[in-house]
Amino acid sequence: MTTLEIRDLHVTVDAGDGPEAGDGVKEILRGVDLTVRSGETHAIMGPNGSGKSTLAYSIAGHPKYTVTSGTVTLDGEDVLAMSVDERARAGLFLAMQYPVEVPGVTVSNFLRTAKTAIDGEAPKLRTWVKDVRTAMDELRMDPAFAERNVNEGFSGGEKKRHEILQMELLKPKVAILDETDSGLDVDALRIVSEGVNRAKEGTDVGVLLITHYTRILRYIKPDFVHVFVDGKVVEEGGPELAQRLEDEGYDRFLTPAKA
Ligand code: ADP
Ligand code: MG
Ligand code: MG
Repeated sequence: MTTLEIRDLHVTVDAGDGPEAGDGVKEILRGVDLTVRSGETHAIMGPNGSGKSTLAYSIAGHPKYTVTSGTVTLDGEDVLAMSVDERARAGLFLAMQYPVEVPGVTVSNFLRTAKTAIDGEAPKLRTWVKDVRTAMDELRMDPAFAERNVNEGFSGGEKKRHEILQMELLKPKVAILDETDSGLDVDALRIVSEGVNRAKEGTDVGVLLITHYTRILRYIKPDFVHVFVDGKVVEEGGPELAQRLEDEGYDRFLTPAKA
């Protein structure tokens, strides 16, 4: 049983758009509370610019985001004190952790290196090769994809498949998926969602699914839905809340000045 606990998290970003140091500092997260346990799927839904990606980046340890107060713990361990690598070894999977191109590193090498780093030992070659092949097959990925350099010239859909391939193989305790649905056509969305569902079935992973649209929730069923507006959770419920957002949009949650 694993618990990711976020308490009263405040985060600023330095947009760097003023002449003086500190001019561009804006508070984006304004007191986020959220608890994700093993086996649970939480959807975070909110309008563009509400701070959803900032939440994901902050948990990932992106240097651009400064935590000014609050806590993030994984089974009581202080995540904010960990390096990015330590977060991965602790069992956090953050899809945006490897967003950049890695010249000269193939998908195949990258996956094996990541698996070795996280498990503390190299995977058994024979089962590993088979696991990779099976997962790629199920995600309808051409085997040649494994020999391409990470993220180099990947299409939007290939990036998403590569993320889910990592999630399936690295078997994290908690996976944070930011806008996994963006830029996918219906077929790709179904294939990627099935990958997430397989990962959920095969393990006890807790999932934090960040999305603007309700469409992905037809394929990946959330246990809890959190409405995220203006840097914090403003309403929580079960799957019925996603249906309500689909019908009514976010207007009801926006302050009049912003609606
Ligand atoms: P969402 O993912 O919900 O669309 P974001 O977290 O991407 O929202 O952005 C929330 C707010 O923070 C926006 O106003 C955005 O412009 C600002 N922001 C986020 N990241 C940065 C950054 N690196 N530099 C400057 N502003 C940022
Ligand atoms: Mg947002
Ligand atoms: Mg975003």
